[in-house]
Amino acid sequence: MRQPLVAGNWKMNGSKESIQALIGGLKAGLSSGADAEVVVCPPAIYISETKVLLEESSIVLGGQNLCDHAEQGAFTGEIAASMLLDFGCKYVIVGHSERRALYGETDALVAEKFRVAYDAGLKPILCVGELLEERESGQTEAVVARQLDAVLNMDGGVAALADSVIAYEPVWAIGTGKTASPEQAQDVHAFIRQRIAEKDSGVAAKTRILYGGSVKAGNAAELFSKSDIDGGLVGGASLIVDEFLGICRAS
Ligand code: PEP
Repeated sequence: MRQPLVAGNWKMNGSKESIQALIGGLKAGLSSGADAEVVVCPPAIYISETKVLLEESSIVLGGQNLCDHAEQGAFTGEIAASMLLDFGCKYVIVGHSERRALYGETDALVAEKFRVAYDAGLKPILCVGELLEERESGQTEAVVARQLDAVLNMDGGVAALADSVIAYEPVWAIGTGKTASPEQAQDVHAFIRQRIAEKDSGVAAKTRILYGGSVKAGNAAELFSKSDIDGGLVGGASLIVDEFLGICRAS
């Protein structure tokens, strides 16, 4: 019932040349289709270039971030939801742990970005996840609940989740090579779905929940086989054609 989704977060990586090669390889590898919806999220400056390269492919575009102000205006360095839409983005990542940790994004700001994106017609990919010390001190569910509730408790937040995506990304697994075990990930995914179900079970059944954190071609199938894991948000491996194709085919 939920179509799997695999999204590549390129972060601040790439050049015109490398993106051309990456998209060329992905298009060739996915020419006969994939069960999963496949999304790539380039750095903002390469969205336009990537859009052209993606012509005649089923790969979808997403942004990595957006401004929390809905209207265009005097916000130097920011990118409006309307601009992402203008260049064909369907998705946008909000609340990635790097933005929370390095740029001070709070739960409230992330929720505002989610609202602005959703209201504009983008599908937000809301990232949640605990730090290592939070897991080790038994706070995983409390942290994830707090991050999720910032959106769930907004006006219209529950309904918006039906058409949005959540990515559970334990911070200790991002870019570290340490992956959560499929059981650890499934436990948190089930917790997230249950928390949404407490508000609306129909929405909970529809919301796609991705796992992120050192997903590779070699571990994706086992992770994606879990009942509440609907695909992956992929960083490092999304920059390597064969790795990313392997992950897309694992769903
Ligand atoms: C990410 O940045 O969202 C991510 C999951 O990174 P990696 O796959 O490199 O751990």
